[in-house]
Parts: sequence; structure tokens; C-alpha cells
Amino acid sequence: MTDTASIAVRPAWQQALAQSIRDPRQLAETLSLPADWVAAHSPARELFPLQVTRHFVSLMTPGDCDDPLLRQVMPHQDEYKEAAGFTTDPLAEQQSSQPGLLHKYRSRVLVILRGGCAINCRYCFRRHFPYADHHFGPQQRAELINYIRQDAAINEVIVSGGDPLLATDEQFTRLLDELEQLPQLLRIRIHSRLPVVLPERLTDALAQRLAASRLQAILVIHANHPREIAPQLQERLQAWVNAGITVLNQSVLLRDINDDAATLAELSERLFAARVLPYYLHQLDKVKGASHFAVTDAHACAIAAQLRALLPGFLVPRLVREIAGEPSKTPLELTLV
Ligand SMILES: *Cc1c(COP(=O)(O)O)cnc(C)c1O
Ligand code: SF4
Repeated sequence: MTDTASIAVRPAWQQALAQSIRDPRQLAETLSLPADWVAAHSPARELFPLQVTRHFVSLMTPGDCDDPLLRQVMPHQDEYKEAAGFTTDPLAEQQSSQPGLLHKYRSRVLVILRGGCAINCRYCFRRHFPYADHHFGPQQRAELINYIRQDAAINEVIVSGGDPLLATDEQFTRLLDELEQLPQLLRIRIHSRLPVVLPERLTDALAQRLAASRLQAILVIHANHPREIAPQLQERLQAWVNAGITVLNQSVLLRDINDDAATLAELSERLFAARVLPYYLHQLDKVKGASHFAVTDAHACAIAAQLRALLPGFLVPRLVREIAGEPSKTPLELTLV
């Protein structure tokens, strides 16, 4: 027996993740972007680090500073702008009494399984989140189980983050093993952007574990632009859907990225071709440093009306905003009346 036999081989997706780009100059080189433009915007990485997978970069158009995928990840000098109402904790989540656990809506509890992400989206409402406080280990798992036991109304566990799919298949299996013991639970839902930025994370092994569960499994991916639905993603989604996982998508409405009906209609079409149903279209959360992505409510509602005219009803995402203290996401049309 050799020594190497005992060294665990990292899964392919973790190896791909290790190749992520974190230096703006490297991004500029890969995409042939103008050096002066990169130099002007790079300092904003001190506000929120640059991080993007090579797969996501491969979907960008070289030489285009306005590329809608590049705009989602490249630091920008506008992030220094102060804007009224844009704060570091727009959803008041940092006051949560149980660290790592958010129970805002009656029947579902959200667990922060992993802090950090495979991509840092500049518009993210969690860009100021103190993730270091949110380690999810055996103790947190026990606390979660206890918490659910004390509230019979909870029937669904949402694993989120950060990005929960940064957890290993083994960690998912351990969590599922315990959740399956709670008869009140019907569903487990995974909210993740990893499939879009690293399709190989959708392993067959994890799909099979989820499919074998007593709990119905739902995967909610996060794509904002039709170009994010790459062939590699389509292939992996096919495998997950065939295994029996329901897949939905949520998007954020972002200025100069997807704030027009034609782009969003194409996104819905491409999602459905990949067997994914559009779920939510979120109005931006007012997080400090992201005001340049904001779309007015009037414009958002006009886009929603156009989408309804362009698409069958099942391909129109619900346009919502999150309002702290409300019992659900709020349809945007309701906030205007
Ligand atoms: C958005 C969200 C959910 C999920 O809401 P659904 O309408 O069921 O998709 C659950 N918990 C928290 C804390 C949320 O922010
Ligand atoms: S993947 Fe999601 S949680 Fe992570 S930075 Fe992007 S929007 Fe935020």
C-alpha cells in the first residue's frame, strides 16, 4: 500500500473552485479589458472582494466592459456612492436571535449552512454579513433539530448561505440523515448560485442522495441573464431533474443587466428549455454600495406587465420585494397601490 492511497482526492468541483479569479488584473487579462478602466474600478474590491469562477468568466464577452455578467462581479467606483436608504443590513438579519438560523415565515426555516460564496455578486444584500459568526457544525445541527421540534408549523427547511452547495456531499448527507427523522418535515430546499457559476457542483451522487430522501427536494438556482444558462449547466440540470429534483430559478432585477422585458423573456425561455421554472424576480435589497444597480418600482412594474404579454403565465416570475417584518415576500404591484 502506498501513502497516496490514504490521501482523499478532492472532488472535481472543488478543484475547479480553487482556480477562481480574485485579482482584477487577472480578470482584465483573461478578458482583454482596458488597463485604465480596470485600474479606475479595482479599488472598490476593498469594500467586497472580487471573486469569480473561470466558468462564469468564460461566458463573458472579451473586451466588453459593459458585459452583463462582468457587471455582476467587477468592483465599480459607484460602490463608494452614498445613497439614502441603502444600509449594511437592509433586511435586519444580523439581529437574528439564533445565529445561522432565520425563521421569518411561518412554515419554513432558513439555515445558513455555509458562509461565503463561489462568486461575489456586487449587488448582494449579504455583502456586509458577518459570516464568521455562522459556522454550521454538529452543535448547530443539534440546535436546528431542537428548534424545529419545538414548532410544529415548520414543514420545510431551506438551506442557504452564503452558498450551501459549498458544503460537501458528506455534510449534506449528515444533515439529511437527521432532518429525515422529523416527521413534520415535508421538504428540503437548497438555494444556491453554485450551479450557475460551477455546474459540475451538481454531482450525480448528491442528486441521488436527495432523490432517495423521504423529503421532497427542491433546488432554487440563481441566474440573472440568459447567457448564464450554459450548455454545461443544462446538462447537469437534466441529470438532477431526471433524478426527481424540482428546479426553480430566482433572479434579481439589475439596472443595465436584465432590466428589460426582452432579456428577461429570453431568460425564462432558456430556463424552461433547461427544465427550470422561473420563481421570483426580486426587486433589489437596499444594501450599501449597490445603489447603482437599482431599478425604480415604476420601471420594474412596467417590465412585469410586458413579460406577462410576452410569455405564458408559468414562465413569468413573481416580481417581489422583501420587506422586514412582513409574513412573506411582497408582490411589488401591491406596494404601489
Ligand atoms: C425568502 C425567504 C424564505 C423563502 O420564502 P418563499 O416565499 O417560501 O420562497 C424563507 N425564509 C427567509 C428568511 C427568506 O428570506
Ligand atoms: S451567490 Fe448569492 S449570497 Fe453569494 S454573493 Fe452572490 S447573491 Fe450573494
